[in-house]
Amino acid sequence: MIQTPFYLIDRAKLARNMALMDQLRHGSGAKTLLALKCFATWPVFDQMRDHMDGTTSSSLYELKLGAEKFGKETHAYSVAWADHEIAEAVGYADKIIFNSIGQLERFDNQSASINRGLRLNPRFSTSGFDLADPARPFSRLGEWDAGKIEGVMDRISGFMIHYNCENADFDLFDRQLGRIEDEFGPLLKRLKWVSLGGGIHFTGDGYPIDRLAARLRAFSDRFGVQVYLEPGEAAITGAASLEVTVLDTLNNGKDLAIVDASVEAHMLDLLIYRIPARIETSGPHPWMICGKSCLAGDVFGEFDFAKPLQVGDRISIADAAGYTMVKKNWFNGVRMPGIVVKELDGSLTLAREFGYADFIGNLG
Ligand SMILES: *Cc1c(COP(=O)(O)O)cnc(C)c1O
Repeated sequence: MIQTPFYLIDRAKLARNMALMDQLRHGSGAKTLLALKCFATWPVFDQMRDHMDGTTSSSLYELKLGAEKFGKETHAYSVAWADHEIAEAVGYADKIIFNSIGQLERFDNQSASINRGLRLNPRFSTSGFDLADPARPFSRLGEWDAGKIEGVMDRISGFMIHYNCENADFDLFDRQLGRIEDEFGPLLKRLKWVSLGGGIHFTGDGYPIDRLAARLRAFSDRFGVQVYLEPGEAAITGAASLEVTVLDTLNNGKDLAIVDASVEAHMLDLLIYRIPARIETSGPHPWMICGKSCLAGDVFGEFDFAKPLQVGDRISIADAAGYTMVKKNWFNGVRMPGIVVKELDGSLTLAREFGYADFIGNLG
């Protein structure tokens, strides 16, 4: 028995996503690059590598990880590169994507040996949450003035346009891509590749993948470009859980269970976006599942159980792949969940354990 807490990555569930990934790649001709900022747990890259074309990154370290651990095609993007990073970044990257014309010009000489792109901000997005909205007012994420971009077209071969966010609505995607075609068509015609970023929820239940594939192929044909997608969440959705154990129970007006993990430390996105965790359970007994950090609001949510919870009960918290392991932290010194892989034959492999040495080494 592996000691909780641990993140459990299920290769069978990952395989389902990868089959849909192949359906989209083959149907559309688009290449898909894993967005490492969402998921960078490289012990399962062996499985993903056969169904994706490479990785994209948001920093030098992600870029290096992608080049070393995933291989294939490596795109380098960063909101801003530092002078001391650029030579190393160009060394790992097949393509480098600058966030601004200023950065493209600053690093023009150092980057001239590889394909270069620019981030285009279409000034709309599908995110309703301003923290995650690349089209928020005064957004720093990309250039939007076609007149200014015109001046650097001879130095770039592609655009990266990331504007979707867990978009499960194909018709909305279709309409918004149409707006991009209308507004930036003359520029798109002069490029070799266009990355449409991440945030398309094509592995969700019932998503019309074949319509998406046909739409992407039409876009690619119309402008003569290789299309890239940069799925993060869509690649790994539903593929991992956080496995925890109940350490204590009490009743302060509600039945409360304290588990051996923490929302703040191990599923931070739930706090940031103020959404409850997902625990698949039902029954007549409502319980509030609470984290063990001393943050008052360290609460996973309220769920109904078949039986009253007891110390030692095991609970599985779903949706623990995207934006979880990449954000885990040592707040409160809570034991960091290990990383466990459930193999296709059902056996468990402990990929990584964390201990006191990792905690103390993080701080000095
Ligand atoms: C976050 C991000 C992605 C991945 O987004 P998902 O919603 O996880 O698919 C892809 N590209 C860029 C530029 C991003 O910032």
